[in-house]
Amino acid sequence: MELFNLDAIRADFPILSEKVYGKPLVYFDNAATTQKPLCVLNKITEVYTTQNANIHRGVHYLSQKATMAHENARQTVADFLGARSSKEIVFTRGTTESINLVATAFTERFCKAGDEIVFTQMEHHANIVPWQMAAQRAGLILRVAPINERGELILEELDKLLTAKTKLLTLAHISNVLGTINPVKEIIKMAHQKGIRVLIDGAQAVAHSGVNVVDLDADFYVFSGHKIYGPTGIGVLYGKSELLEELPPYQGGGEMIQNVTYEKTTYNELPYKFEAGTPDYVGSVALATALDYVTNIGIERIASYENELLEYATSKLLEIPDMRIIGTAAHKCSVISFVIAGIHPFDLGTLLDKTGVAVRTGNHCAQPLIDLLEVPGTVRISFAFYNTREEIDYFIAQLKRCIAILK
Ligand code: PLP
Repeated sequence: MELFNLDAIRADFPILSEKVYGKPLVYFDNAATTQKPLCVLNKITEVYTTQNANIHRGVHYLSQKATMAHENARQTVADFLGARSSKEIVFTRGTTESINLVATAFTERFCKAGDEIVFTQMEHHANIVPWQMAAQRAGLILRVAPINERGELILEELDKLLTAKTKLLTLAHISNVLGTINPVKEIIKMAHQKGIRVLIDGAQAVAHSGVNVVDLDADFYVFSGHKIYGPTGIGVLYGKSELLEELPPYQGGGEMIQNVTYEKTTYNELPYKFEAGTPDYVGSVALATALDYVTNIGIERIASYENELLEYATSKLLEIPDMRIIGTAAHKCSVISFVIAGIHPFDLGTLLDKTGVAVRTGNHCAQPLIDLLEVPGTVRISFAFYNTREEIDYFIAQLKRCIAILK
């Protein structure tokens, strides 16, 4: 089963040796956020210790060193996503801010009252609420593409929703509740044939599947650093340069300007036009370190190993009476949501916590989907490549004990 040296990998993540309530931590909440390897933690310290200075405007040595590191980090992100140019990489605070940026700027530039935006039933709140806010501002109509009972998009229905009125389709690459891997390349092609732009929410995908934005032909692709072993507070918006050029700035302030008078401002070139204020030049460099770390291990190996964990855990869970796995798509990533008849997910999560197992319970920031599924919430386990089969065995044993207590 082992595709790489798990002991060495686990040693890279100091938090995995922590104990909770005196028990070894079993961290199965990776879809919420991932743990950080030492190289990322050390990089943050190194940047603050050896090269901290505000970037871009400084003539002095430190500022130039920090600027170079930040711009090299942008290139690392561009390479990681297969982007044509680092100009197409905008640093944001995360997926949420990236989507808000597009929802604001794209609708302002390209949409008029009565135009439509399409998203899907499996979206995270981050890919619903910004569009509702934009729709309210601009008088847009929102359409929601349905999923089937396995948690897969119904492509024929999606196709029907994409009409001459649709200006943009926005959807998750991978669902954070169902684990469904959407066939985004095919979907983007479908939308493009009708002249519709597509935003892909890659929050759950970047750490678990290779992404190449040029191959996908995505117009926008967004993700958060903290979900791919990088720090919190930094994220990415990839946009095709010809599109980003057309969009108005999202926020005003320093960095995003070319020339300012009391009356008028002209804006900076890409990508700085979208980066008002002092950027997170420590986060960007630490994110690049995380991406290099992942690249060195190999995203295909990671995906393959995580898939083995997914299959193993799924088969073990299905041995448990009254188990209902929510999300049984043919193409899934290592996220498993489940409910047990007669037991509230919150109670299970709370008891599991006492055994050292960190799971997530609730609506996973996807309340409309949870309502649609007619469950009070789910228990969600989600794996990273540092998780092990032994941890799954321990979790299953504890889960059975918790169920026995709660039944
Ligand atoms: N989209 C999806 C599919 C997610 O899973 C998440 C986080 O869980 C987000 C968006 C929001 O990410 P962030 O909170 O890092 O902005």
